[in-house]
Amino acid sequence: MSQIAEETRSQILSLVNDFVRRDVMPVVQEMEENDTYPEGLVDQMAEFGLFGITIPEQFGGMGLDHITFAMVFEELSKGWMSLTGPIGTHHVMASIIFNSGTSRQKTRWLPKMASGEIRGGLGLTEASGGSDIQSIQTKAIKDGDHYLITGSKMFITNGDRGHAFAVLAKTDTEAIPPYKGMSCFIINKDTPGFSVGRKLNKLGYRGVGTCELIFENAIVPSENLIGEVEGEGFPQVMSALESGRINVAARAVGVAQAAFESAIRYSQTRVTFGKPISSHQAIQLKLADMATRIQAARLLTYEAAKDKELGKRVDLQSGMAKLYASEMCAYVAMESMRIHGGYGYIKDLPIERYYRDAPLMIIGEGTNEILSLLIARRLLDEYRL
Ligand SMILES: Cc1cc2nc3c(=O)[nH]c(=O)nc-3n(C[C@H](O)[C@H](O)[C@H](O)COP(=O)(O)OP(=O)(O)OC[C@H]3O[C@@H](n4cnc5c(N)ncnc54)[C@H](O)[C@@H]3O)c2cc1C
Repeated sequence: MSQIAEETRSQILSLVNDFVRRDVMPVVQEMEENDTYPEGLVDQMAEFGLFGITIPEQFGGMGLDHITFAMVFEELSKGWMSLTGPIGTHHVMASIIFNSGTSRQKTRWLPKMASGEIRGGLGLTEASGGSDIQSIQTKAIKDGDHYLITGSKMFITNGDRGHAFAVLAKTDTEAIPPYKGMSCFIINKDTPGFSVGRKLNKLGYRGVGTCELIFENAIVPSENLIGEVEGEGFPQVMSALESGRINVAARAVGVAQAAFESAIRYSQTRVTFGKPISSHQAIQLKLADMATRIQAARLLTYEAAKDKELGKRVDLQSGMAKLYASEMCAYVAMESMRIHGGYGYIKDLPIERYYRDAPLMIIGEGTNEILSLLIARRLLDEYRL
């Protein structure tokens, strides 16, 4: 890594760290409780350039590497994991456009996405099932110089606040295997026939909206078909999801780190049987185990990010990082709650929020069951007798 890149990384991390301590920490509990969209905080993140952090400089972004991006996600998640929502799938969409879009699509969308003027999202999941993505029902039928899109998407992050979405639809419903008939479209909020449905009420990951998207003969110009080729949507999206999974792993590391830091501080002030609970061996074993698991998850995440940066295929590494980090996060959040005893269960402290936020990382960007199957498939290929 060059010295300039290292300096940029440390500057951005210190900026984000200050932002979290100064602007996020004082308001997070109340905003989370009220499920308030953190408009001012998200605007500040746009001003810092976080909507363009991995978008190349030629398109107005910062062009930073995937490890720096993971570190930023970790820092934000230490304060409030929901803040990564509006920029997480935004970056997956930007990466689909950068990797697979035509040069016209890149110049049209990426500069405005980098500045945060256009905030993106990702529409894959449907109500009938997210794991079996090839069974989606949303259809796109070519009609002159545009497509008519019909169907709906479920659980879409930032559906209410996003301005445009990368949406997977079937342009050929007869294709075998089905993924060969899938195409990816950029769909603007103001598209005729497109509307946003209800905002779902969630266990955690509050503040940021999770919504239904509805397409009723939505009229989408042909030039919004990614790469302007049909049938390529599935690999376009899957490749970009590798970085999405690295981001989810980094969020899990951040939430777990915050839960651990609360626990290690609390353990030194809470006294039972005449001494701080940190003197009890049972608590020490928990602290050691939590810190070791967090570090292991962090290294898996950085390793996947490093390989992604080198342009390698990282479905195995990103899958392992997301799988391990998310399970670790749920475990560490629970251990932190145990260390805090009854106070950990009360909303005055952030521990119960970490506990509620952790499951999203297990379910989102491919459930851990599905990721385990993908990891096993890749390993069986590699070790084929
Ligand atoms: C807060 C939130 C935000 C989200 N944001 C987005 C977004 O921005 N964009 C988007 O497109 N989606 C988004 N999702 C959707 C998410 O990706 C899906 O929920 C997830 O992929 C699982 O799909 P499903 O909920 O339909 O579960 P299902 O696919 O119905 O799975 C149910 C259960 O069965 C298991 N299962 C299914 N198939 C198999 C199998 N073959 N073998 C073993 N186990 C299996 C699953 O692991 C799971 O445990 C979001 C979800 C949430 C909760």
